[in-house]
Amino acid sequence: MINGEQRVPAPIRWGMVGGGRGSQIGYIHRSAAERDRVFTLVAGAFDIDAARGRDFGTALGVALDRCYADYRAMFEAEARRPDGIQAVSIATPNGTHYAITRAALEAGLHVVCEKPLCFTTAEAQALRALAAERRRVVGVTYGYAGHQLIEQARAMIAAGELGEIRIVQMQFAHGFHSEAVEAANPATKWRVDPKMAGPSYVLGDIGTHPLYLSEVMLPELRIKRLMCSRQSFVPSRAPLEDNAFTLMEYEGGAVGYVWSCAVNAGSMHGQKIRVIGSKASLEWWDEQPNQMRFEVQGQPVRILERGMGYLHPQALADDRIGGGHPEGLFEAWSNLYLRYAQAMVATDRGDAAALAALHYPGIDAGVEGVRWVEHCVRSADAGAVWVDYV
Ligand code: NAD
Repeated sequence: MINGEQRVPAPIRWGMVGGGRGSQIGYIHRSAAERDRVFTLVAGAFDIDAARGRDFGTALGVALDRCYADYRAMFEAEARRPDGIQAVSIATPNGTHYAITRAALEAGLHVVCEKPLCFTTAEAQALRALAAERRRVVGVTYGYAGHQLIEQARAMIAAGELGEIRIVQMQFAHGFHSEAVEAANPATKWRVDPKMAGPSYVLGDIGTHPLYLSEVMLPELRIKRLMCSRQSFVPSRAPLEDNAFTLMEYEGGAVGYVWSCAVNAGSMHGQKIRVIGSKASLEWWDEQPNQMRFEVQGQPVRILERGMGYLHPQALADDRIGGGHPEGLFEAWSNLYLRYAQAMVATDRGDAAALAALHYPGIDAGVEGVRWVEHCVRSADAGAVWVDYV
């Protein structure tokens, strides 16, 4: 159980790039990083507009001289301070992630980067090599991966409670962009601009989230080949898609499917994963994250409740309040940030055993998300053909 006891020797001195006033995701990074006192925000280049970033940073309580005009100035100045930052989180539009992550690693910082890590597998692999060479942690924020029922699913599947895995059905399909809302919304506008969003919109923006949940639940699963069809129902978004279907065949005979969609009119979020085995199925939906369906063939449906003593110890280790009270996205993110901090501390002291005991969305998850999107786009743009997963 997580109860606020200090889990690292001292909070990690931490900076942010992006996540400024009005950004969608900045607050949850700060809330998650600081909740368990594992990080302390001491510096930032919070905004593309330097003056607005300074104003916002000081309003957060960051010293004025540590609110920087851009990330380069921050990395340089912080490296000269004896109390400079040890880690940085990057919460900027996608097109900036590669350069900022690269610069942070070169400055000797641990990194938490938003997804997608970058645009091409070659870039992602270059970042992985750099992180290994510099012995730095790179976390990637697939936020719900930190939810305890995802741990529960992982443990149940590993224990064989579903039998042989046959089908993995995934979706992240919301309706918020059913119309061209980007005309009046800057945070949506860059998402449909290939220069800032990269080669895809919904595949990279949301499809990779349930894909990563499947990687947590089924760590042995390997994609053999996939086929993707993508559409731009709001035509001005072309060539980027606002809907995509991806069919996958895995090594060993299982099959999977990801529906990535921003035009699922009426749907609030619609992130779901259903894992179907030869004996039973599990289903989790992020709009009701405290319950997971466990359906054994021929028996009544069971609803597993978060926080209850019948869960596996790995799931209960992430519990904060016990059963009955809801936990959700914020707690899942806090659990991830706690693991990032533990990984950073273990890396700094060269503690291989502690690192082996931790799992979190790191650089491999970042590489895999980019690689999956690249394959989906290649398949879709060739006319929805099967492509080998290489
Ligand atoms: P946003 O447009 O709402 O905010 C972007 C912020 O970054 C703004 O404050 C902007 O001023 C700042 N910024 C832009 N360029 C900058 C630069 N070069 N230096 C410093 N600051 C800069 O975007 P958002 O929705 O918060 O998304 C940011 C990132 O987070 C994206 O990569 C997105 O894919 C990701 N995201 C992830 C999740 C998740 O669940 N993990 C959810 C939403 C967004």
